[in-house]
Amino acid sequence: MRNRIVAGNWKMNKTFEEAEGLVFEIVDFLEENEIINTEVVICPPALYLELASDAAVESQVEIGAQNVYARESGAYTGEISAPMLQSMEIAYCIIGHSERRKYFKESNELLAEKVIACLNNDIRPIFCIGETLDEREAGNHFKVVEDQLNEALFNLSSGEFQNIVIAYEPVWAIGTGVTATSAQAQEMHAYIRSLLAGKYGSDVADQTRILYGGSCNALNAAELFSNPDVDGGLIGGASLIGHDFIEIIKSFPDAS
Ligand code: PEP
Repeated sequence: MRNRIVAGNWKMNKTFEEAEGLVFEIVDFLEENEIINTEVVICPPALYLELASDAAVESQVEIGAQNVYARESGAYTGEISAPMLQSMEIAYCIIGHSERRKYFKESNELLAEKVIACLNNDIRPIFCIGETLDEREAGNHFKVVEDQLNEALFNLSSGEFQNIVIAYEPVWAIGTGVTATSAQAQEMHAYIRSLLAGKYGSDVADQTRILYGGSCNALNAAELFSNPDVDGGLIGGASLIGHDFIEIIKSFPDAS
């Protein structure tokens, strides 16, 4: 059975005090409640990685970064490298989020380099793929996702790929309150898994965690997570409210 993941992407939100309160709310919950077969990952703004990492040190919570630069060190003002993240014991890094593709013009070529930088430093990428509304309405959603995988990930060896987590995030569902239906999510996740099987074989495909992201919340998580190919979620807005994020963590029928 694949270990599920519920990951919170805080994006550019929270003051220091708010971040401290939220991270301890989640850590405390997991200290008092056993959640089975589920990894809980918090991805705060980079400024709070140390705070989150310290708070989570003896807990079930793992910490992820929201971004990384592809080079190891040097004159790249404002950037953070994978060796720096590794030195802070950061376990995961979100790569390829649609906001970074859109606002920061990140190409699949750059994203492929970021993935390698993470893997070289024992950080597991949570790699985001997904189509826009126009692409879905034109019937191109499967092709878009396939191209993203081909261009950014399928250069990896099978051994390298086993450290990848995929997040299917239809762009039209991110932050919009419009969630993919359970059937749409399952259809795309199964398709992604079939592509992984074609490229790396069924063992790797069966082991790879494929998360759903896009307006997933405390009310719809259970239905989305009940699908056989949905291995958890990458949660934006709802991860900013402790109670809601905890409800999502509890959403797998056999979580406790
Ligand atoms: C995200 O940004 O990864 C995301 C899924 O956001 P939201 O849950 O707010 O749609």
